Amino acid sequence: MTERKVLKPKPNAKVQITADIACGEGQPLWIVAGPCAVEGASQLEATAQALLQNGVSSLRGGAFKPRTSPYTFQGMGEEGLQLLDGIRQNHQIAVVTEVMAIEQIEVVSQHADVIQVGSRNMQNFSLLKALGELDKPILLKRGLASTLDEFLWAAEYILAGGNDKVILCERGIRSFDPETRNVLDLGGVAVLKEKTHLPVIVDPSHAAGRRDIITALSRAAIAVGADGLIVEIHPNPQASVSDAAQALSLDDFTALMTSLDPIAQAMGRSLRQPALVKA
Ligand code: PEP
Ligand code: MN
Repeated sequence: MTERKVLKPKPNAKVQITADIACGEGQPLWIVAGPCAVEGASQLEATAQALLQNGVSSLRGGAFKPRTSPYTFQGMGEEGLQLLDGIRQNHQIAVVTEVMAIEQIEVVSQHADVIQVGSRNMQNFSLLKALGELDKPILLKRGLASTLDEFLWAAEYILAGGNDKVILCERGIRSFDPETRNVLDLGGVAVLKEKTHLPVIVDPSHAAGRRDIITALSRAAIAVGADGLIVEIHPNPQASVSDAAQALSLDDFTALMTSLDPIAQAMGRSLRQPALVKA
């Protein structure tokens, strides 16, 4: 059998996101924050200001949303991508957004720095093959009920096509207890860090499904060795059109960052991009 590229021995890879931002061991922690879904220009601008104040380099926001019900908001589509791009141009903030289908790849590539593959598409092999042909960072989220080996095979599809800029994201897996939306597999993060040279980040928001434990999970994720976090935040969380219960307010986000400082320091990682801190 052909050797698996994801199992390539260390040293660990870093994935270059922009000229100034990289994710991986030996790099600053890659912190991404923003709304579940792009809802409008003022929402994104307020969020961008919170990122800048906290020295956070990257904005998330879905324009194409994979919703459980076809009757709920499906995202702003291309208009949402243009709004994200406005933030990218005006503030030099990197943009992470999801692609759900092969037809969306071209337009998403034009407006985003990192293309997200959501949990529901982790084993969409034709999508993964198409992303393997790009020269663009891919944030691959773990499937809702995927083993770590299936996760690594999914990443292999992208690497096999020639794109080695893959960042893995643990976002919680299905279990029996409804207390949290999913169960954050921190043991899995540690295993991935052993098995693959690819960077691994953690999404505490979709794991928890509730805002009150996001800080605890984020601290634990950094302590276990994650290379970054992707967190849902919103200027008015209660009004969020999707995932309102897990969205942090902008003030909560500042408090989260403050509580992460000592953990990052203990792990020998910088948390903030000083050049970005504007206030
Ligand atoms: C998201 O990050 O917007 C998302 C839908 O997450 P997941 O694919 O992990 O459910
Ligand atoms: Mn969400």
